[in-house]
Amino acid sequence: MATLVWLRHELRTFDNPLFDKAIGYNEPIYACYLITPSQWQCQHHSPRRNQYVYQRLIALRQELRELNIPLVVINADDYAQTSSVLSQLCLSLSIKQVIVGEEYGVWERQRDAKVECQLREHNIHSEWLTTQVFFKPGSIVSAAKQQPYKVFTPFANAWRQRLSREGAHPSAAVALATPIADINQGLNDAQLHQLAEGPSDWPVSEATVLAHLGHFIKNIVSTYQQHRDYPNLPATSRLSPALAHGIFSPAQAVSLLQREYADQCFDPKTGPGCWLNELIWREFYIHLLAQFDSISYGVAFKPTTRAIQWDNHADYLTAWQQGKTGIPIVDAGMRQLNAIGWMHNRVRMICASFLCKNLWLDWRLGERYFMEQLIDGHLAANNGGWQWSASTGTDAAPYFRVFNPVSQSQKFDPEGAYIRRWVEELASLAGKAIHQPSEHDCVRLGYPTPIVDLKSSRKRAIEQFAAQTRQT
Ligand code: FAD
Repeated sequence: MATLVWLRHELRTFDNPLFDKAIGYNEPIYACYLITPSQWQCQHHSPRRNQYVYQRLIALRQELRELNIPLVVINADDYAQTSSVLSQLCLSLSIKQVIVGEEYGVWERQRDAKVECQLREHNIHSEWLTTQVFFKPGSIVSAAKQQPYKVFTPFANAWRQRLSREGAHPSAAVALATPIADINQGLNDAQLHQLAEGPSDWPVSEATVLAHLGHFIKNIVSTYQQHRDYPNLPATSRLSPALAHGIFSPAQAVSLLQREYADQCFDPKTGPGCWLNELIWREFYIHLLAQFDSISYGVAFKPTTRAIQWDNHADYLTAWQQGKTGIPIVDAGMRQLNAIGWMHNRVRMICASFLCKNLWLDWRLGERYFMEQLIDGHLAANNGGWQWSASTGTDAAPYFRVFNPVSQSQKFDPEGAYIRRWVEELASLAGKAIHQPSEHDCVRLGYPTPIVDLKSSRKRAIEQFAAQTRQT
Protein backbone atom coordinates (compact mmCIF):
# COMPACT_ATOMS: atom_id res chain seq x y z
CA MET A 1 0.00 0.00 0.00
CA ALA A 2 1.14 3.58 -0.64
CA THR A 3 0.20 7.25 -0.19
CA LEU A 4 -0.38 9.66 -3.07
CA VAL A 5 0.26 13.41 -2.81
CA TRP A 6 -1.71 15.24 -5.50
CA LEU A 7 0.12 18.51 -6.15
CA ARG A 8 -1.62 21.55 -7.61
CA HIS A 9 -0.61 24.91 -6.16
CA GLU A 10 2.20 23.81 -3.83
CA LEU A 11 5.00 22.75 -6.14
CA ARG A 12 7.62 22.62 -3.39
CA THR A 13 9.39 20.25 -1.01
CA PHE A 14 9.92 22.68 1.91
CA ASP A 15 6.98 23.66 4.14
CA ASN A 16 4.62 21.43 2.21
CA PRO A 17 1.90 20.16 4.57
CA LEU A 18 0.98 17.49 2.03
CA PHE A 19 4.33 15.73 2.28
CA ASP A 20 4.49 16.34 6.03
CA LYS A 21 1.18 14.53 6.33
CA ALA A 22 2.09 11.77 3.89
CA ILE A 23 5.36 10.92 5.63
CA GLY A 24 3.39 10.18 8.81
CA TYR A 25 1.77 7.16 7.14
CA ASN A 26 5.16 5.41 6.95
CA GLU A 27 4.43 4.03 3.55
CA PRO A 28 5.97 4.65 0.15
CA ILE A 29 4.89 8.05 -1.22
CA TYR A 30 4.06 8.93 -4.81
CA ALA A 31 3.39 12.46 -5.98
CA CYS A 32 1.31 13.31 -9.00
CA TYR A 33 0.41 16.40 -11.01
CA LEU A 34 -2.43 16.35 -13.54
CA ILE A 35 -1.94 18.68 -16.45
CA THR A 36 -5.24 19.89 -17.94
CA PRO A 37 -4.46 21.76 -21.19
CA SER A 38 -8.08 22.11 -22.37
CA GLN A 39 -9.17 23.35 -18.97
CA TRP A 40 -6.32 25.86 -18.87
CA GLN A 41 -7.36 27.11 -22.28
CA CYS A 42 -10.96 27.57 -21.10
CA GLN A 43 -9.67 29.52 -18.12
CA HIS A 44 -7.45 31.65 -20.40
CA HIS A 45 -4.15 30.59 -18.85
CA SER A 46 -1.27 32.08 -20.77
CA PRO A 47 1.20 29.93 -22.72
CA ARG A 48 3.96 31.44 -20.55
CA ARG A 49 2.23 30.31 -17.38
CA ASN A 50 1.87 26.80 -18.80
CA GLN A 51 5.51 26.78 -19.84
CA TYR A 52 6.49 27.83 -16.33
CA VAL A 53 4.46 24.94 -14.86
CA TYR A 54 6.06 22.39 -17.20
CA GLN A 55 9.52 23.66 -16.36
CA ARG A 56 8.79 23.64 -12.67
CA LEU A 57 7.56 20.03 -12.94
CA ILE A 58 10.84 18.96 -14.56
CA ALA A 59 12.82 20.55 -11.72
CA LEU A 60 10.45 19.29 -9.03
CA ARG A 61 10.66 15.72 -10.31
CA GLN A 62 14.41 15.81 -9.76
CA GLU A 63 14.05 17.41 -6.31
CA LEU A 64 11.51 14.78 -5.26
CA ARG A 65 13.56 11.92 -6.67
CA GLU A 66 16.26 12.81 -4.14
CA LEU A 67 13.64 12.30 -1.41
CA ASN A 68 12.58 8.90 -2.82
CA ILE A 69 9.29 10.30 -4.10
CA PRO A 70 8.49 9.59 -7.76
CA LEU A 71 6.47 12.36 -9.46
CA VAL A 72 3.94 11.11 -12.01
CA VAL A 73 2.72 13.76 -14.46
CA ILE A 74 -0.45 12.75 -16.27
CA ASN A 75 -2.51 14.48 -18.92
CA ALA A 76 -6.13 14.65 -17.73
CA ASP A 77 -7.03 17.30 -20.31
CA ASP A 78 -9.89 18.87 -18.38
CA TYR A 79 -11.64 18.72 -15.03
CA ALA A 80 -14.36 16.38 -16.34
CA GLN A 81 -11.73 13.67 -16.68
CA THR A 82 -9.90 14.32 -13.43
CA SER A 83 -11.71 11.95 -11.11
CA SER A 84 -11.44 8.94 -13.40
CA VAL A 85 -7.79 9.63 -14.27
CA LEU A 86 -6.92 10.01 -10.59
CA SER A 87 -8.87 6.90 -9.53
CA GLN A 88 -7.15 4.80 -12.18
CA LEU A 89 -3.77 6.06 -11.04
CA CYS A 90 -4.63 5.22 -7.42
CA LEU A 91 -5.74 1.72 -8.31
CA SER A 92 -2.66 1.04 -10.41
CA LEU A 93 -0.35 2.18 -7.55
CA SER A 94 -2.33 0.51 -4.72
CA ILE A 95 -2.94 3.87 -3.05
CA LYS A 96 -4.61 3.83 0.37
CA GLN A 97 -4.85 7.59 0.89
CA VAL A 98 -4.58 10.73 -1.22
CA ILE A 99 -3.39 14.00 0.32
CA VAL A 100 -4.40 17.17 -1.53
CA GLY A 101 -4.12 20.97 -1.14
CA GLU A 102 -7.35 22.95 -1.29
CA GLU A 103 -8.19 25.05 -4.36
CA TYR A 104 -10.86 27.73 -4.18
CA GLY A 105 -12.44 28.57 -7.53
CA VAL A 106 -15.96 27.21 -8.09
CA TRP A 107 -14.89 24.81 -10.86
CA GLU A 108 -12.03 23.49 -8.76
CA ARG A 109 -14.31 22.96 -5.76
CA GLN A 110 -16.85 21.12 -7.93
CA ARG A 111 -14.12 18.93 -9.41
CA ASP A 112 -12.75 18.14 -5.95
CA ALA A 113 -16.17 17.16 -4.58
CA LYS A 114 -16.47 14.66 -7.44
CA VAL A 115 -12.95 13.35 -6.87
CA GLU A 116 -13.56 12.84 -3.17
CA CYS A 117 -16.75 10.94 -3.91
CA GLN A 118 -15.14 8.70 -6.50
CA LEU A 119 -12.14 7.92 -4.29
CA ARG A 120 -14.50 7.00 -1.47
CA GLU A 121 -16.26 4.55 -3.77
CA HIS A 122 -12.89 2.84 -4.17
CA ASN A 123 -12.30 2.89 -0.41
CA ILE A 124 -9.52 5.41 -0.80
CA HIS A 125 -9.31 7.99 1.94
CA SER A 126 -8.62 11.64 0.95
CA GLU A 127 -7.41 14.55 3.07
CA TRP A 128 -7.66 18.18 1.99
CA LEU A 129 -5.23 20.64 3.54
CA THR A 130 -4.57 24.38 3.35
CA THR A 131 -1.39 24.98 1.36
CA GLN A 132 -1.83 28.14 -0.74
CA VAL A 133 -2.51 30.63 2.00
CA PHE A 134 -1.28 31.26 5.50
CA PHE A 135 -4.68 31.05 7.20
CA LYS A 136 -7.47 28.81 5.98
CA PRO A 137 -10.14 30.71 4.03
CA GLY A 138 -13.18 31.14 6.23
CA SER A 139 -11.08 31.25 9.39
CA ILE A 140 -10.68 35.04 9.42
CA VAL A 141 -14.09 36.48 10.11
CA SER A 142 -15.38 39.60 11.78
CA ALA A 143 -15.61 39.20 15.54
CA ALA A 144 -19.03 40.85 15.73
CA LYS A 145 -20.90 38.97 13.02
CA GLN A 146 -18.65 36.01 12.28
CA GLN A 147 -18.93 36.99 8.61
CA PRO A 148 -16.13 37.10 6.00
CA TYR A 149 -14.53 40.51 5.68
CA LYS A 150 -15.41 42.28 2.45
CA VAL A 151 -13.03 45.16 3.03
CA PHE A 152 -9.26 44.84 3.11
CA THR A 153 -8.17 46.94 6.11
CA PRO A 154 -10.14 45.12 8.85
CA PHE A 155 -9.19 41.80 7.23
CA ALA A 156 -5.52 42.80 7.29
CA ASN A 157 -5.74 43.93 10.91
CA ALA A 158 -7.35 40.66 11.98
CA TRP A 159 -4.79 38.74 9.91
CA ARG A 160 -1.86 40.53 11.56
CA GLN A 161 -3.32 40.05 15.04
CA ARG A 162 -3.62 36.35 14.43
CA LEU A 163 -0.06 36.19 13.11
CA SER A 164 1.22 37.93 16.22
CA ARG A 165 -0.63 35.39 18.40
CA GLU A 166 0.24 32.25 16.45
CA GLY A 167 3.52 33.06 14.68
CA ALA A 168 4.82 31.54 11.45
CA HIS A 169 6.22 28.01 11.68
CA PRO A 170 7.15 26.68 8.28
CA SER A 171 8.38 23.10 8.24
CA ALA A 172 11.72 21.97 6.83
CA ALA A 173 12.09 19.85 3.72
CA VAL A 174 10.25 16.58 3.92
CA ALA A 175 12.24 13.70 5.39
CA LEU A 176 13.44 10.89 3.13
CA ALA A 177 10.48 8.71 2.23
CA THR A 178 10.56 4.90 2.09
CA PRO A 179 12.58 4.04 -1.03
CA ILE A 180 10.47 3.00 -3.99
CA ALA A 181 11.22 2.16 -7.59
CA ASP A 182 10.60 4.98 -10.10
CA ILE A 183 7.54 4.23 -12.19
CA ASN A 184 6.94 4.42 -15.85
CA GLN A 185 3.59 6.19 -16.08
CA GLY A 186 2.55 9.51 -17.54
CA LEU A 187 4.85 12.03 -19.18
CA ASN A 188 8.60 11.58 -19.05
CA ASP A 189 11.13 14.43 -18.83
CA ALA A 190 11.66 14.52 -22.60
CA GLN A 191 7.89 14.97 -23.16
CA LEU A 192 7.75 17.71 -20.52
CA HIS A 193 10.72 19.47 -22.13
CA GLN A 194 8.87 19.33 -25.43
CA LEU A 195 5.74 20.87 -23.87
CA ALA A 196 7.86 23.52 -22.13
CA GLU A 197 9.28 24.62 -25.50
CA GLY A 198 12.64 25.87 -24.35
CA PRO A 199 14.01 27.71 -21.35
CA SER A 200 12.47 30.77 -19.69
CA ASP A 201 14.01 33.67 -17.82
CA TRP A 202 12.12 32.88 -14.62
CA PRO A 203 13.94 30.56 -12.20
CA VAL A 204 12.12 27.33 -11.44
CA SER A 205 14.41 25.42 -9.10
CA GLU A 206 13.26 25.56 -5.48
CA ALA A 207 16.79 26.34 -4.27
CA THR A 208 17.12 29.30 -6.67
CA VAL A 209 13.71 30.68 -5.76
CA LEU A 210 14.44 30.40 -2.03
CA ALA A 211 17.82 32.09 -2.52
CA HIS A 212 16.05 34.90 -4.39
CA LEU A 213 13.49 35.25 -1.58
CA GLY A 214 16.29 35.37 1.00
CA HIS A 215 18.22 37.97 -1.00
CA PHE A 216 15.13 40.14 -1.43
CA ILE A 217 14.32 40.04 2.27
CA LYS A 218 17.88 40.69 3.39
CA ASN A 219 18.83 43.38 0.89
CA ILE A 220 15.82 44.97 -0.78
CA VAL A 221 12.70 44.82 1.36
CA SER A 222 13.86 47.52 3.78
CA THR A 223 13.39 50.16 1.05
CA TYR A 224 10.28 48.51 -0.45
CA GLN A 225 7.88 51.08 0.96
CA GLN A 226 9.73 54.05 -0.64
CA HIS A 227 10.59 52.43 -3.98
CA ARG A 228 7.92 49.88 -4.80
CA ASP A 229 5.79 52.17 -6.97
CA TYR A 230 8.61 53.08 -9.37
CA PRO A 231 8.44 50.63 -12.27
CA ASN A 232 11.96 51.28 -13.42
CA LEU A 233 13.51 50.28 -10.08
CA PRO A 234 14.22 46.64 -9.15
CA ALA A 235 12.37 47.31 -5.90
CA THR A 236 9.73 44.58 -5.78
CA SER A 237 10.41 40.88 -5.38
CA ARG A 238 9.19 39.60 -8.76
CA LEU A 239 8.30 36.44 -6.90
CA SER A 240 4.67 36.42 -8.05
CA PRO A 241 5.01 33.45 -10.46
CA ALA A 242 6.75 31.40 -7.74
CA LEU A 243 4.09 32.31 -5.20
CA ALA A 244 1.26 31.68 -7.65
CA HIS A 245 2.47 28.09 -8.07
CA GLY A 246 3.63 27.59 -4.51
CA ILE A 247 7.37 27.16 -5.08
CA PHE A 248 7.59 28.74 -1.66
CA SER A 249 4.85 29.26 0.89
CA PRO A 250 3.54 32.46 2.49
CA ALA A 251 4.68 31.03 5.85
CA GLN A 252 8.26 30.73 4.61
CA ALA A 253 8.22 34.36 3.49
CA VAL A 254 6.62 35.62 6.69
CA SER A 255 8.95 33.65 8.93
CA LEU A 256 12.06 34.97 7.12
CA LEU A 257 10.66 38.49 7.31
CA GLN A 258 10.00 38.21 11.05
CA ARG A 259 13.40 36.68 11.75
CA GLU A 260 15.11 39.60 10.00
CA TYR A 261 12.87 42.51 11.05
CA ALA A 262 10.85 41.35 14.10
CA ASP A 263 8.08 43.80 14.96
CA GLN A 264 8.69 46.13 12.00
CA CYS A 265 6.67 43.61 10.00
CA PHE A 266 3.52 44.73 11.78
CA ASP A 267 3.88 48.33 10.66
CA PRO A 268 2.82 48.83 7.01
CA LYS A 269 4.77 52.12 6.95
CA THR A 270 8.08 50.21 7.05
CA GLY A 271 9.51 48.30 4.10
CA PRO A 272 9.01 44.83 5.63
CA GLY A 273 5.55 45.76 6.94
CA CYS A 274 4.53 47.17 3.58
CA TRP A 275 5.66 43.98 1.80
CA LEU A 276 3.75 41.88 4.34
CA ASN A 277 0.71 44.00 3.54
CA GLU A 278 0.98 42.95 -0.11
CA LEU A 279 1.14 39.31 0.93
CA ILE A 280 -2.02 39.96 2.93
CA TRP A 281 -3.72 41.43 -0.18
CA ARG A 282 -2.97 38.13 -1.87
CA GLU A 283 -4.49 36.23 1.07
CA PHE A 284 -7.52 38.54 1.11
CA TYR A 285 -8.34 37.90 -2.53
CA ILE A 286 -7.94 34.12 -2.13
CA HIS A 287 -10.21 34.14 0.92
CA LEU A 288 -12.81 36.08 -1.11
CA LEU A 289 -12.56 33.62 -4.00
CA ALA A 290 -13.27 30.78 -1.60
CA GLN A 291 -16.24 32.56 -0.04
CA PHE A 292 -17.96 34.34 -2.92
CA ASP A 293 -18.86 32.31 -6.01
CA SER A 294 -19.59 35.51 -7.94
CA ILE A 295 -15.84 35.91 -8.42
CA SER A 296 -15.50 32.63 -10.34
CA TYR A 297 -18.62 33.49 -12.33
CA GLY A 298 -17.16 36.84 -13.44
CA VAL A 299 -19.94 38.85 -11.78
CA ALA A 300 -19.17 42.29 -10.36
CA PHE A 301 -18.71 42.04 -6.59
CA LYS A 302 -20.68 45.19 -5.82
CA PRO A 303 -24.34 44.56 -6.76
CA THR A 304 -24.90 48.26 -7.48
CA THR A 305 -22.38 48.11 -10.33
CA ARG A 306 -23.78 45.03 -12.06
CA ALA A 307 -26.07 46.97 -14.39
CA ILE A 308 -23.32 49.14 -15.86
CA GLN A 309 -23.42 49.17 -19.64
CA TRP A 310 -19.85 49.23 -20.85
CA ASP A 311 -18.99 50.21 -24.41
CA ASN A 312 -17.91 47.55 -26.83
CA HIS A 313 -15.31 49.41 -28.82
CA ALA A 314 -13.17 46.74 -30.49
CA ASP A 315 -10.60 49.20 -31.85
CA TYR A 316 -9.96 50.60 -28.40
CA LEU A 317 -9.45 47.12 -27.00
CA THR A 318 -6.99 46.22 -29.75
CA ALA A 319 -5.03 49.45 -29.29
CA TRP A 320 -4.84 48.83 -25.54
CA GLN A 321 -3.78 45.20 -25.99
CA GLN A 322 -1.07 46.15 -28.47
CA GLY A 323 0.25 49.07 -26.45
CA LYS A 324 -0.77 51.60 -29.09
CA THR A 325 -3.11 53.89 -27.19
CA GLY A 326 -0.90 56.97 -27.50
CA ILE A 327 -0.60 57.18 -23.69
CA PRO A 328 3.07 56.34 -23.10
CA ILE A 329 2.89 54.80 -19.62
CA VAL A 330 -0.07 52.60 -20.63
CA ASP A 331 1.69 51.50 -23.81
CA ALA A 332 4.92 50.79 -21.92
CA GLY A 333 3.02 48.59 -19.46
CA MET A 334 1.13 46.69 -22.13
CA ARG A 335 4.29 46.15 -24.14
CA GLN A 336 6.09 44.90 -21.04
CA LEU A 337 3.21 42.48 -20.45
CA ASN A 338 3.26 41.27 -24.06
CA ALA A 339 7.05 40.88 -24.05
CA ILE A 340 7.67 39.12 -20.73
CA GLY A 341 4.28 38.12 -19.30
CA TRP A 342 4.72 40.31 -16.23
CA MET A 343 3.96 43.93 -15.45
CA HIS A 344 4.84 46.12 -12.51
CA ASN A 345 1.96 46.52 -10.02
CA ARG A 346 1.67 50.32 -10.30
CA VAL A 347 1.50 50.03 -14.08
CA ARG A 348 -1.06 47.19 -13.86
CA MET A 349 -3.26 49.62 -11.92
CA ILE A 350 -2.72 52.41 -14.45
CA CYS A 351 -3.43 50.17 -17.47
CA ALA A 352 -6.50 48.67 -15.81
CA SER A 353 -7.90 52.02 -14.77
CA PHE A 354 -7.34 53.37 -18.28
CA LEU A 355 -9.23 50.47 -19.85
CA CYS A 356 -12.24 50.75 -17.54
CA LYS A 357 -12.46 54.46 -16.88
CA ASN A 358 -11.04 56.19 -19.96
CA LEU A 359 -11.95 53.64 -22.63
CA TRP A 360 -15.13 52.62 -20.78
CA LEU A 361 -14.51 48.97 -21.68
CA ASP A 362 -15.78 46.10 -19.54
CA TRP A 363 -13.19 45.16 -16.89
CA ARG A 364 -13.74 41.48 -17.80
CA LEU A 365 -12.11 42.12 -21.19
CA GLY A 366 -9.01 43.43 -19.48
CA GLU A 367 -9.05 40.69 -16.86
CA ARG A 368 -9.17 38.06 -19.59
CA TYR A 369 -6.38 39.65 -21.62
CA PHE A 370 -4.13 39.89 -18.56
CA MET A 371 -4.81 36.22 -17.80
CA GLU A 372 -3.95 35.29 -21.39
CA GLN A 373 -0.56 37.00 -21.03
CA LEU A 374 0.52 36.84 -17.38
CA ILE A 375 3.05 34.32 -16.14
CA ASP A 376 1.71 34.91 -12.61
CA GLY A 377 -1.96 34.86 -13.67
CA HIS A 378 -4.13 33.84 -10.71
CA LEU A 379 -7.91 34.20 -10.73
CA ALA A 380 -8.10 35.60 -7.19
CA ALA A 381 -5.43 38.33 -7.55
CA ASN A 382 -6.24 39.17 -11.15
CA ASN A 383 -9.96 39.49 -10.56
CA GLY A 384 -9.30 41.40 -7.34
CA GLY A 385 -6.94 43.83 -9.11
CA TRP A 386 -9.36 44.36 -11.98
CA GLN A 387 -12.43 44.90 -9.84
CA TRP A 388 -10.47 47.26 -7.61
CA SER A 389 -9.50 49.27 -10.70
CA ALA A 390 -13.02 49.21 -12.14
CA SER A 391 -14.56 50.29 -8.80
CA THR A 392 -16.83 47.25 -8.92
CA GLY A 393 -14.94 45.22 -6.32
CA THR A 394 -14.97 44.52 -2.62
CA ASP A 395 -13.10 47.45 -1.39
CA ALA A 396 -13.10 49.27 -4.66
CA ALA A 397 -11.58 52.68 -5.08
CA PRO A 398 -14.52 55.10 -5.26
CA TYR A 399 -15.67 55.52 -8.85
CA PHE A 400 -14.85 59.21 -8.89
CA ARG A 401 -11.18 58.43 -8.18
CA VAL A 402 -9.87 57.99 -11.71
CA PHE A 403 -6.13 57.60 -12.25
CA ASN A 404 -4.67 60.22 -14.54
CA PRO A 405 -2.09 58.17 -16.46
CA VAL A 406 -0.02 61.23 -17.33
CA SER A 407 0.36 62.45 -13.75
CA GLN A 408 0.95 58.84 -12.60
CA SER A 409 3.70 58.63 -15.19
CA GLN A 410 5.23 61.95 -14.11
CA LYS A 411 5.18 60.85 -10.51
CA PHE A 412 6.36 57.26 -10.74
CA ASP A 413 8.54 57.30 -13.85
CA PRO A 414 9.86 60.87 -13.51
CA GLU A 415 12.75 60.49 -15.93
CA GLY A 416 10.71 58.39 -18.35
CA ALA A 417 13.25 55.55 -18.20
CA TYR A 418 10.56 52.87 -17.97
CA ILE A 419 8.69 54.31 -20.95
CA ARG A 420 11.85 54.60 -23.04
CA ARG A 421 12.71 51.00 -22.26
CA TRP A 422 9.44 49.56 -23.55
CA VAL A 423 8.21 52.07 -26.14
CA GLU A 424 11.01 52.13 -28.65
CA GLU A 425 9.48 54.85 -30.84
CA LEU A 426 9.87 57.22 -27.89
CA ALA A 427 13.38 56.15 -26.85
CA SER A 428 14.96 59.22 -28.42
CA LEU A 429 12.46 61.70 -27.01
CA ALA A 430 14.25 63.77 -24.37
CA GLY A 431 12.89 65.44 -21.27
CA LYS A 432 9.43 65.62 -19.74
CA ALA A 433 7.69 65.42 -23.13
CA ILE A 434 8.04 61.64 -22.77
CA HIS A 435 4.92 61.55 -20.56
CA GLN A 436 2.67 63.26 -23.09
CA PRO A 437 4.36 63.73 -26.48
CA SER A 438 3.06 66.52 -28.69
CA GLU A 439 1.14 65.69 -31.84
CA HIS A 440 4.14 66.86 -33.82
CA ASP A 441 6.47 64.46 -31.96
CA CYS A 442 4.02 61.58 -32.35
CA VAL A 443 3.86 62.03 -36.10
CA ARG A 444 7.62 62.54 -36.37
CA LEU A 445 8.42 59.42 -34.29
CA GLY A 446 5.71 57.16 -35.71
CA TYR A 447 3.94 56.92 -32.33
CA PRO A 448 0.11 57.04 -32.12
CA THR A 449 -1.67 60.16 -30.89
CA PRO A 450 -3.97 59.45 -27.90
CA ILE A 451 -7.03 57.40 -28.84
CA VAL A 452 -9.13 59.23 -26.24
CA ASP A 453 -9.05 62.61 -24.60
CA LEU A 454 -8.18 61.97 -20.95
CA LYS A 455 -10.17 64.84 -19.50
CA SER A 456 -13.45 64.26 -21.29
CA SER A 457 -13.30 60.47 -20.99
CA ARG A 458 -12.73 60.81 -17.25
CA LYS A 459 -15.72 63.13 -16.92
CA ARG A 460 -17.88 60.75 -18.92
CA ALA A 461 -16.85 57.77 -16.78
CA ILE A 462 -17.79 59.58 -13.60
CA GLU A 463 -21.15 60.59 -15.05
CA GLN A 464 -21.87 57.08 -16.31
CA PHE A 465 -20.98 55.59 -12.95
CA ALA A 466 -23.18 58.04 -11.10
CA ALA A 467 -26.11 57.46 -13.44
CA GLN A 468 -25.88 53.72 -13.96
CA THR A 469 -25.17 52.70 -10.41
CA ARG A 470 -28.07 54.81 -9.09
CA GLN A 471 -30.56 52.96 -11.28
CA THR A 472 -30.06 49.63 -9.49
P1 FAD B 1 5.78 42.29 -4.67
O1 FAD B 1 5.52 43.73 -4.63
O2 FAD B 1 7.12 41.81 -4.33
O3 FAD B 1 4.71 41.61 -3.69
C1 FAD B 1 4.92 40.32 -3.09
C2 FAD B 1 3.82 39.37 -3.46
O4 FAD B 1 2.59 39.79 -2.90
C3 FAD B 1 3.58 39.26 -4.95
O5 FAD B 1 4.50 38.38 -5.56
C4 FAD B 1 2.14 38.77 -5.00
O6 FAD B 1 2.06 37.38 -4.79
C5 FAD B 1 1.52 39.46 -3.80
N1 FAD B 1 0.86 40.72 -4.19
C6 FAD B 1 1.44 41.92 -4.31
N2 FAD B 1 0.52 42.86 -4.61
C7 FAD B 1 -0.66 42.22 -4.67
C8 FAD B 1 -1.99 42.64 -4.94
N3 FAD B 1 -2.32 43.91 -5.16
N4 FAD B 1 -2.96 41.70 -4.97
C9 FAD B 1 -2.68 40.40 -4.71
N5 FAD B 1 -1.44 39.96 -4.45
C10 FAD B 1 -0.45 40.84 -4.42
N6 FAD B 1 -0.90 39.33 -8.88
C11 FAD B 1 -0.76 38.02 -9.15
O7 FAD B 1 -0.01 37.31 -8.45
N7 FAD B 1 -1.46 37.44 -10.19
C12 FAD B 1 -2.29 38.17 -10.99
O8 FAD B 1 -2.92 37.60 -11.89
C13 FAD B 1 -2.41 39.57 -10.74
N8 FAD B 1 -3.19 40.35 -11.54
C14 FAD B 1 -3.31 41.70 -11.26
C15 FAD B 1 -4.16 42.48 -12.05
C16 FAD B 1 -4.31 43.84 -11.78
C17 FAD B 1 -5.21 44.69 -12.63
C18 FAD B 1 -3.61 44.41 -10.69
C19 FAD B 1 -3.76 45.87 -10.38
C20 FAD B 1 -2.80 43.64 -9.89
C21 FAD B 1 -2.63 42.27 -10.15
N9 FAD B 1 -1.79 41.45 -9.36
C22 FAD B 1 -1.68 40.11 -9.63
C23 FAD B 1 -1.14 42.00 -8.16
C24 FAD B 1 0.27 42.55 -8.34
O9 FAD B 1 0.31 43.43 -9.43
C25 FAD B 1 1.34 41.47 -8.54
O10 FAD B 1 1.21 40.47 -7.56
C26 FAD B 1 2.73 42.09 -8.42
O11 FAD B 1 2.91 43.08 -9.39
C27 FAD B 1 3.78 41.00 -8.58
O12 FAD B 1 5.06 41.56 -8.53
P2 FAD B 1 6.06 41.19 -7.35
O13 FAD B 1 6.14 39.72 -7.22
O14 FAD B 1 7.31 41.93 -7.59
O15 FAD B 1 5.29 41.76 -6.10
